[in-house]
Amino acid sequence: MDSSTTRRTLVRPMLEFEPQESLEARVAALPKIHLHCHLEGTLRESTFLELTARDGLPTRYRPGAPADVLDRSPREPGQVYAFADFPEFLLLFAAVSRALSRPEDYARLAEEFATDALRRGVVYGELFLSPSVWRFFHPELDLRSCMEAIYEVFARVERSHGVAFRTIVDLTRNFGASSALESARFAASTTELGTIGIGLGGDELRFPPELFVDAFAFARAEGLHTVAHAGEAAGAQSVRAAVEHLRAERIGHGIRAVDDPALLTLLREREIALEICPTSNLRTGVVSAPEAHPLPALLAAGLRIVIDDDDPALFGAHIDEEYLAFARQVGEPGLRACIATAIEASFAPPSLKRSLEERLRSTE
Ligand SMILES: [Zn+2]
Repeated sequence: MDSSTTRRTLVRPMLEFEPQESLEARVAALPKIHLHCHLEGTLRESTFLELTARDGLPTRYRPGAPADVLDRSPREPGQVYAFADFPEFLLLFAAVSRALSRPEDYARLAEEFATDALRRGVVYGELFLSPSVWRFFHPELDLRSCMEAIYEVFARVERSHGVAFRTIVDLTRNFGASSALESARFAASTTELGTIGIGLGGDELRFPPELFVDAFAFARAEGLHTVAHAGEAAGAQSVRAAVEHLRAERIGHGIRAVDDPALLTLLREREIALEICPTSNLRTGVVSAPEAHPLPALLAAGLRIVIDDDDPALFGAHIDEEYLAFARQVGEPGLRACIATAIEASFAPPSLKRSLEERLRSTE
């Protein structure tokens, strides 16, 4: 018996009896990147209940409802974050935003988000904020103080854990073009507080991308990055308009792009990443069933895909759970490729991208 045979016989039984690390454990160890997550949508249900009780607010928002109407909104834990369809979801998101009425509420939101995110293995994040919604409910609110409160928490997390969180100001389509321009100005005035870009969420059907060309041009001229939700509730045309008219660098959702082969080519050529949030699409009803989700077709079309959780507290699925579901679909190498895409498609500076890539490689 030569020495290599001896080595094999010694090593092989050990390998055979070594327990295979589960996919769950391997995914849990992977670094996670937020590129499509709304900070307000991470508010814990228990905190939402506490804040609404403090301020005597219903847990539902009904536009135009008189203030003295009897509050019958749900307060049972586990039943508060419920909705039937996309319009109802937008109203719930509004109710959650209304509950955040003071700078210290935003500090708490950021603190709880960061605690949960670190526990789930998030190593970098670009978070949406919707200050025009905050102001809609609380006209007296000092938006800058709220941004400062969030920034203080994120700066502390970065110092103590080496995890950077940046913010993207969502212009909120429902308030129209001039409000969007005002929000873009606010974004440009808060870059020292971690703002790196603008986004465009809200009612895509009634407020198409073309309305917001000026706000996007302004933001770009100010050196801000630009992203837009498109092709979620509306069709492929909305994605095309977000790319051609708004010159968005990434598209939120974009799933309806699957209906337009020429658009798929355009997205591939311009290397525009789609931020796919599978559970969100199911819960809002824009996709009818898991097997109907266009994700496999978008991957097969060779698009850059990143996976995220959108409004995790409201949808009941967080980024680690989305990653695990995706890994079960495409395997661990597919998930790793997706994380690498997220690092590359992020707006992190090159040095941070390299260290995130190193972190991903270290888990192989
Ligand atoms: Zn979103």
